[in-house]
Amino acid sequence: MINLISDTVTKPTPGMLDAMMHAEVGDDVFKHDPTVNALEAKLAKLFGKEAALFFPSGTMANQTAIKIHTQPGEQLICDKWAHIFNYEGGGASFNSGVSCRLVDGNRGMMTAEQVEAVINPPDFYHSPLTTLVEVENTTNRGGGACWDFEELVKIKAVCEKHGLAYHLDGARLWNAMVETAATPKDYGRLFDTISICLSKGLGAPVGSVLVGTKKHMQKALRIRKVFGGGMRQAGFLAAAGIYAIDHQWERLKEDHRKAKELGGALSKLSQVDFVEEVETNIVIFQLRPNEDIAGFMQLLQENKILISNMGQGKLRMVTHLDYTDAMHQQVMEVLGNI
Ligand SMILES: *Cc1c(COP(=O)(O)O)cnc(C)c1O
Repeated sequence: MINLISDTVTKPTPGMLDAMMHAEVGDDVFKHDPTVNALEAKLAKLFGKEAALFFPSGTMANQTAIKIHTQPGEQLICDKWAHIFNYEGGGASFNSGVSCRLVDGNRGMMTAEQVEAVINPPDFYHSPLTTLVEVENTTNRGGGACWDFEELVKIKAVCEKHGLAYHLDGARLWNAMVETAATPKDYGRLFDTISICLSKGLGAPVGSVLVGTKKHMQKALRIRKVFGGGMRQAGFLAAAGIYAIDHQWERLKEDHRKAKELGGALSKLSQVDFVEEVETNIVIFQLRPNEDIAGFMQLLQENKILISNMGQGKLRMVTHLDYTDAMHQQVMEVLGNI
């Protein structure tokens, strides 16, 4: 099977497994795991932040960030397609007791004007107090779109003006960083906290890292404990993350090239209504209104190709480390023959 459902379906490469097998480990709950400590130090340094904390998942890292920056009853601002709102099980309300003020952005991205327009006046005590702005780069539901860095800077200015915290869900920030000029330190300067996944395009089996100030990470350590995310000899997993950053980051460009080619092939099909612009490794497309979505997916599956249905008529393909050149050639041939 050629699995294009997500970039989370990858398995550790031989080099990564080797790094994991040879990891020096300790009990990370006591902060005694040298490999976890090394991963955290590496990411704090990369983003120019004081500290970092390793998490079992991106969801837990994001949820911890929300908890750090808010109090129950408050409100955060995010795009209507945000992962924290749509795909984290209602965690913002469950864990932090906050509501989400949704902005009707473009492909998961808001403008600074839109953000400023939905901030509740702090002295109007009838409405929830706005305390946090959250953005996602690249956008997941937005089809891997990359933010214009200048817009992120403008939103930062809005946050500063109104005293709001600013969190980046950087699950696929690695993908954005190989396509655009902004560096990790540029992002580090802008955001109070950033969550970064190791288990998406980078190909590690498990893990995300949250970066921020020392004070934020001290809070995060306690919250992670409360969420049940303290892990013991986690260095085996952290070793995979270190290996992934050192050896499997630059190659994301390969995934992006293949995704663009898939987008091109799909746009030529008579069944396809439109393909959203492909900027990174996610291809989102829609069939014409009279087309049978289940039938189209079945046809691909008969050709050993798995893709996902995002609902509302949208289908998704995601390229990744385990999607080889040979598989790509095969998929391009199948699409060419539909
Ligand atoms: C995958 C993803 C996450 C985190 O997901 P986990 O499966 O919990 O690691 C967060 N945000 C976005 C945008 C994602 O795509």
